[in-house]
Amino acid sequence: MMLNLHHIAYPIRSLGPGLRVGVWFAGCRRNCPGCMSPELQPPESGRLVAVERLAGRLLDIDAPLAGVTISGGEPLDQPAALTELLSGLACARPEWSVILYTGYVMSEIEEDPERAHVLRMADALIAGPFDAASPQRHPLAGSGNQQVMALTERGQKMLEELPTSSFPLVDLGLGPRGAAMLIGVTQDATRRDIVNALAEKSGA
Ligand code: SF4
Repeated sequence: MMLNLHHIAYPIRSLGPGLRVGVWFAGCRRNCPGCMSPELQPPESGRLVAVERLAGRLLDIDAPLAGVTISGGEPLDQPAALTELLSGLACARPEWSVILYTGYVMSEIEEDPERAHVLRMADALIAGPFDAASPQRHPLAGSGNQQVMALTERGQKMLEELPTSSFPLVDLGLGPRGAAMLIGVTQDATRRDIVNALAEKSGA
């Protein structure tokens, strides 16, 4: 089965506890005003990869990862591929926790059996469309309207132990062609400040 992938990044600390690998799906139809990842919205921004190949790539990462964070784009628009990916990871790395981001709210997920099935393989869910007018209330959620839910006991423990005061909000990495890439849930102003500071440092 093929999956429309935008990119992966590792190790990251900003989207859940411990060192994690992030997987960003390509394509999202919601067009939320203030979306932090507009470049991921067009399905053609991604590339099709075989799920088995992607799983192998993630399992080959040489780092003591605590889990995987799935984001996008809209991962639940590719429920079959996501199910296959998470099943493969769960078999090989049962100790990895799974955090799933989606723009769908719970009622929308539940009305689609394929989407609902994916939730069986996640420990924590951040659900709901980004709303720039709703201030951030949780370190894992970009806006205050988004629901942060534990789906398993492990997810419950993970969310309870999340160090809210010192949680790193942003990872900085190198994206395509060496461009700086910010990873994490930040308010627009914070993101702008960081981007401006980086531009000043590089003399841009
Ligand atoms: S659901 Fe997420 S990726 Fe999609 S438009 Fe909204 S913020 Fe952007």
